[in-house]
Amino acid sequence: MPGKTATPLSIAIIGSGLGGLSAAVALRRQNHNVTIFERYDFAGEVGASLSCASNGSKFLQEWDVPIAAAKPVILKSLIMHEWETGKITSEYDLGDYRERFGADYNNFHRIDIHNVLRETALGSKGQGPPCILKTMHRAVKIDEEAGHIIFENGEEFSANVIIAADGIRSLSRGLLGITPSITPSASCCYRCIIPASRLRELGLEKFVSSDAIEFWGGFGINKIVMSPCSNNEVVSSYCFYPASFNDLNEDGWNISTTGENLVKTFPGLDPDLHKMFMHADDIKMWRLYVHEPYPYWFKGKVALLGDAAHPMLPDQSQGACQAMEDAGALGIIFGNKYDDLDIEQRLRLYETTRKERASRVQAASAKARTDLSERIGWSSKSDRPGKLTIEEICGYDMHSHVAELAKGIRSLEAS
Ligand SMILES: Cc1cc2nc3c(=O)[nH]c(=O)nc-3n(C[C@H](O)[C@H](O)[C@H](O)COP(=O)(O)OP(=O)(O)OC[C@H]3O[C@@H](n4cnc5c(N)ncnc54)[C@H](O)[C@@H]3O)c2cc1C
Repeated sequence: MPGKTATPLSIAIIGSGLGGLSAAVALRRQNHNVTIFERYDFAGEVGASLSCASNGSKFLQEWDVPIAAAKPVILKSLIMHEWETGKITSEYDLGDYRERFGADYNNFHRIDIHNVLRETALGSKGQGPPCILKTMHRAVKIDEEAGHIIFENGEEFSANVIIAADGIRSLSRGLLGITPSITPSASCCYRCIIPASRLRELGLEKFVSSDAIEFWGGFGINKIVMSPCSNNEVVSSYCFYPASFNDLNEDGWNISTTGENLVKTFPGLDPDLHKMFMHADDIKMWRLYVHEPYPYWFKGKVALLGDAAHPMLPDQSQGACQAMEDAGALGIIFGNKYDDLDIEQRLRLYETTRKERASRVQAASAKARTDLSERIGWSSKSDRPGKLTIEEICGYDMHSHVAELAKGIRSLEAS
């Protein structure tokens, strides 16, 4: 067939966040030569939890990522508390989750899973050639037809395929001609972490040992989401509040605040949470934005991935999982089974596989911002048809979806 692509390809990845690293691992395993370019040196990694549902964890398993080395807490339930008293009002038991969906619901510390993915991408062990990582390489120009990147430091690189995984503020997206529609959300979010040892000293060991994601509020803007990570040694909380409270305009993850400020933001909240806030470490706050889907995800030899392709509000806990799905799709599509397709066909197949599903999760995340009954786990199609459900997200079989979509491309080619 004239379009056949030879393996190995040279693949450049812009950005080494969780999305870029996942793509690196997936593509290395298909014997491609992968070079990752990162603008920083990882000194600014954010400490917070990251729940990885089975749709992400399944790919970590498939790629032989040593999940245990990332010290996950395997989540067993979702718990809802009364805002004022902390009394448990309902519980969703995840029960036989692993049997149903083929992987655990892992709760990681972001830095732990980032380190493990990076080692898996770069290490000499594992399938395919180790990836190369070049830090302090900020991409500033892309020629999408030539597959050429220019970096701020003056270096240049050419590749058969470029994956732009440069995050929510992606420069690559603009370079591909996409103008994002971004609206400030009415919500902001604090993030704080606290060591388990301190919680025990405070008599709050119940927050350490739940193996659950615990919620307070969530019907309206205010919501607290708490979960243990790092082998139960750290507890992390995300606390959503009205943007009007402090008119935060600055962007980024590194704007610090105090426990007193957290307590002031949520008067009347469960006193145990107030106590925890007063002893928490490293409290940060950030502004949230609502993003609409983009008209396309690839142009020439360049495809978007992760937050660069589908930035979403955090309320379905799916941003990184969707980035892992993107990476999973690339690993499948750039595998031998599809090497009768040329690069353009493969990138189109990637976009077709991923854009509709990720956009649906993006929209459902915005709905769940102020309505916890829209969040998978708490949602069910029976109370409102069309809701995103745990079965749709966690029971998804990408391998057969790609095979089905590829039939369409091949029959077009044959006709
Ligand atoms: C409050 C909150 C809670 C969340 N909780 C969860 C959760 O529980 N579960 C979940 O699945 N997801 C969660 N997410 C979402 C998740 O964190 C993101 O979707 C995910 O980290 C995105 O990864 P990424 O690799 O696409 O982008 P990023 O992590 O932003 O990585 C982009 C990388 O590209 C680099 N870069 C940028 N520009 C350039 C350039 N020009 N040249 C070179 N490098 C560049 C950056 O330095 C960075 O390293 C949450 C998000 C938030 C805000």
